[in-house]
Amino acid sequence: MSKLDITGRIHSVETFGSLDGPGIRYLLFLQGCPMRCIYCHNPDSWDLHSGTQMSVEEIMRDISRYRNFIMTGGITLSGGEPLMQPQFCEAIISESQKRGFHVAVDTSGSMPLEKCKEAVALADLLLLDIKALDEKLCKEMTGHSNHNPLAILDYREQINKPVWIRHVLVPGYTLDKDKLTNLAQYLSKYKCIERIELLPFHKMGEYKWEQLNLPYKLYDTPAPTRDEIDMAVSIMKEYNLPVK
Ligand code: SF4
Repeated sequence: MSKLDITGRIHSVETFGSLDGPGIRYLLFLQGCPMRCIYCHNPDSWDLHSGTQMSVEEIMRDISRYRNFIMTGGITLSGGEPLMQPQFCEAIISESQKRGFHVAVDTSGSMPLEKCKEAVALADLLLLDIKALDEKLCKEMTGHSNHNPLAILDYREQINKPVWIRHVLVPGYTLDKDKLTNLAQYLSKYKCIERIELLPFHKMGEYKWEQLNLPYKLYDTPAPTRDEIDMAVSIMKEYNLPVK
């Protein structure tokens, strides 16, 4: 079977993304996620069997329509959790790279490395969302351990390929001086980290939880203040981390 014939499930497409990797990008959101982050703004992406089925060939055909716009940026596979469909992901990455595109994978790192190693190795850039370094807090916030994301980070370090770390600042959870200091200290040993993006918690997905009849825990949680964000940034800077 050719890689172009592999099919997978897609949540949605955004054709002129500028926030998920360098330059103007074609963003492909894949369906399915094993995590249950309390602040998820895409709970409609959780179910792996929902969304639209597409082949890699169909995706490549659609991407080619935007070639001139994304040639200096690239393609970002996001989700949901794109690595939940590892062969599909790998096929899209390799077919895109054959056509000269830079490919980033935006992942929570929730899949075991042995299940998605080829795609993780192939990605030109990994946008890795570290939900919480503290194991107990990670389980509380996502329902999962942080073992897999940290193993994926170790692997990218080992193969010397770039990673941008993302970390959501949630008041009452991750927005805490000691926790941020521990995270900064932990990350400072990695040479593969090119950038750290601290993302302030927001409630834009709250309505989707209501639509899906899911219990949302953060109704009363405010967005971080400017001072709180500055505090988090300065902690990263203390450890000479490339924070944006
Ligand atoms: S990893 Fe992303 S898509 Fe999955 S639950 Fe968390 S925020 Fe939502």
